[in-house]
Amino acid sequence: MSYSNPSKPKNLFTKTTCPYCGVGCGVLAHTDDYGVVTVTGDTEHPANLGRLCSKGTALGETVYLDERLLYPEILGEQVSWEQALATVAGRFSKIIAAHGADAVALYVSGQLLTEDYYVANKLMKGFVGSSNIDTNSRLCMSSVVAGYKRAFGEDIVPGCYEDLERAKLIVLVGSNTAWCHPVLYQRIVDTKNNNPDLQIVNIDPRKTQTSSVADLHLAIRPGTDSVLFNGLLVWLETAGEHNAMYTRNFTRGMQAALDSAKNSAASIEIVAEKCGLPANDVEAFFRLFARTERTVTAFSQGINQSSSGVDKINSIINCHLYTGRIGRPGMGPFSLTGQPNAMGGREVGGLANQLAAHMEIHNETHRQRVKRFWNSPVIAKTEGLKAVDLFNAIDEGKIKAVWIIASNPIVSLPEADKVRSALEKCELVIVSDCVRETDTVKLAHIRLPATTWGEKDGTITNSERCISRQRSFLQPPGLAKPDWWIVTEVARKMGFTDAFPYTSPVEIFREHARLSGFENENERLFNIDALADITSSQYNALTPIQWPVTRQSPNGTARLLSAARFSTTDKKANFIAIEPRLPANACSTDYPFILNTGRVRDQWHTMTRTGMSPRLSAHTIESYVEIHPDDAHRHAINDFEIVEITNTLGKSIYVRAQFSDKQQPGSIFVPIHWNQQFSSQARVGSLIKAVLDPISGQPEFKHSVAKIRPWHANWYGFLISRHKPALKYASYWARSRGKGFWRYEVAGQVNPEDWSEHARTLLGRVGEQENWIEFYDKARFHYRAARIVNDRLDACIFIYPSNALPPRDWLISLFQKGTITPEERASLLTGTPPADQQDYGRIVCACFNIGEKLITQTIRANSLRTTDEIGQILKAGTNCGSCKPELSEYLKTIWGH
Ligand code: SF4
Repeated sequence: MSYSNPSKPKNLFTKTTCPYCGVGCGVLAHTDDYGVVTVTGDTEHPANLGRLCSKGTALGETVYLDERLLYPEILGEQVSWEQALATVAGRFSKIIAAHGADAVALYVSGQLLTEDYYVANKLMKGFVGSSNIDTNSRLCMSSVVAGYKRAFGEDIVPGCYEDLERAKLIVLVGSNTAWCHPVLYQRIVDTKNNNPDLQIVNIDPRKTQTSSVADLHLAIRPGTDSVLFNGLLVWLETAGEHNAMYTRNFTRGMQAALDSAKNSAASIEIVAEKCGLPANDVEAFFRLFARTERTVTAFSQGINQSSSGVDKINSIINCHLYTGRIGRPGMGPFSLTGQPNAMGGREVGGLANQLAAHMEIHNETHRQRVKRFWNSPVIAKTEGLKAVDLFNAIDEGKIKAVWIIASNPIVSLPEADKVRSALEKCELVIVSDCVRETDTVKLAHIRLPATTWGEKDGTITNSERCISRQRSFLQPPGLAKPDWWIVTEVARKMGFTDAFPYTSPVEIFREHARLSGFENENERLFNIDALADITSSQYNALTPIQWPVTRQSPNGTARLLSAARFSTTDKKANFIAIEPRLPANACSTDYPFILNTGRVRDQWHTMTRTGMSPRLSAHTIESYVEIHPDDAHRHAINDFEIVEITNTLGKSIYVRAQFSDKQQPGSIFVPIHWNQQFSSQARVGSLIKAVLDPISGQPEFKHSVAKIRPWHANWYGFLISRHKPALKYASYWARSRGKGFWRYEVAGQVNPEDWSEHARTLLGRVGEQENWIEFYDKARFHYRAARIVNDRLDACIFIYPSNALPPRDWLISLFQKGTITPEERASLLTGTPPADQQDYGRIVCACFNIGEKLITQTIRANSLRTTDEIGQILKAGTNCGSCKPELSEYLKTIWGH
């Protein structure tokens, strides 16, 4: 099913933005006569200047309608919008009247546009009168908000992307930029290629794809980042690298921070010992930092997702304050946000502990100001419940109604099974989503169909404070509506019509801009007042612009804090004395592994969008655990074997083992994406204990503890089919989408009575039995079968007693063909190509469908030494460039350097 009614005349481009990561790339979207959407990078967008990563490039493949939620539903029955909205408003109002405002909650998302976010926050804090609205951005950047506020008095990102190109030293801490912010990574690599003097230090317990660009990789002991940066602060003092004029005039609290740093990290030897690093490497990093004025320290989830994330951030900021390296080109502490509009959410106060427009709930002046501006009957008095506490309150029955918008907390929150049982018990669960079946939507009493990328219209703000338009170019299908519209209509039905008069996003944006300047008097740097009178046509034509956008700086502001006037009462920045705390979860004999989590190159969050794309699904087809080979041998685990990982709560997941010497012994890594739509049980959220940063409430996703053991099945197999089979007998399964087919990896402990009969039930269709071919060696327990319809491969299944199955890549290539030849048919059940064909291996370059085997063969055959040389022959890496770090790895593996 595809869009037949694009909202734009065909063959015209729409300038919009990518909906995935915080880089916030501009894209040009184009719909052809058949409704097929293609996207290219927008060369005029300052974030990417035309570049896109694999996810952005494949956006066109994700505008599927097949799995969309198209109509409002109550208890599974389709209803009208009128009925759905009236029910939501009525039930919310009743619960508030009976139990108070804090008995209801909203859980929203960094996927929302700023306008959506604004009305949701306004409804809860100004009209319901509760701060029980939190967002999944709590899971990715709330520690940064708290860290910036402690240091600068406001949530301010001082720098911009250009600083990465003007720096002489880039320190990437806890950030696999190559996979998580790929276009920024490409900008860094291009800068490095043009300027070999640029030094890059990568601080990460894992050696990742990002490490390949680094001059120095510090494989730090997990959780010890504050020790390292405290040590750096001490070293800077010893080395005389103190900007005394800056600290004297513009900061306070330096001596306490230094004293505290000396307590934990007095010497290089102590730092090296505590961080598990060679002393020489620590010294090399310190010397580099000390002598390089233009230093950017960029950090991401490896720092934020920690029970001491806020302290880690302040330990980094302390070093920049000490050297005065903030607010000038090529320097500064720089948080790379995870989601496309995490920043927009911060602007409107989408977190439970914020108000709006960078104002504070605990500040009576701010509360009354916002109340006056909104002309609201009430204003939230205290901070609301942060994400994990909010779902705990649902579990305890304190919150009786929750409205989840554009998020999938049953997959993404820690202790995800507890989240599920909380929602199962909850009196009223409302979910607004664009997808018909997610783990969370399944549990909703009321389902509200929301528009999605391509249909949505509004603004987002990326990691460098750049506000960009996200524009619609597709008509919403079915009865799907924008999130701002849904919230607005519910607010009206709750009796707040006058305060929610909106009929379009621009009206909301104007109000948001006005509030940012309302009684501001330079108190808050977040100010876009100059956009408060924007007309509809100006809004439609709005080009990317970095806030603040004021009457004095109408064209935006690239860097902040250059005047060293902070948002604190005395306008000085705060050093924060840091006493490093190690992660609360400690390994034991029974649970010997540190469990780390993160993203893979081609998937996004819980796969509700990227899981639709065949191109993106080809790179990593099932979840896995990266484990050091020594650990694997100690635990009798073989490469590619299915393993069970269990946490101290007794929860388990089942994933494929993947050996990697880039993993530290004692640590394992599992990706965050897989949910129960794509796997039997690979939701790593169920293994994460809800240990939180005490200030930000951000969960520790990088340091859980677990044990691991092989999981043995009676049979293993895979099936590839043009139709989705109804699986039976498979205790383990992982599903991925191909172009015109589904691929399943399966394993089971119970055998069907007759494999031949079972396979036909799974894959066959009545009346077409004559095209069924099969091979069944009962003695060796090898079963293989294929279904061919009109000389076209329709489905195949391979079942073995062990994991030693044939490669899938050649078989998959047959599904791309109209018909198969007699030779291919003859080879089909061996799983290997005929003599004149090749198996090109697992797809590495998703843009040009180039496989691993072809790449390594070509490197060897042509003595290739660079990724550009590979690109010249195979085209791999020449479009989005996301596979370049892997191409570099192949070159290193083959040539040894
Ligand atoms: Fe989208 Fe990739 Fe750009 Fe991130 S880097 S915004 S995922 S195209």
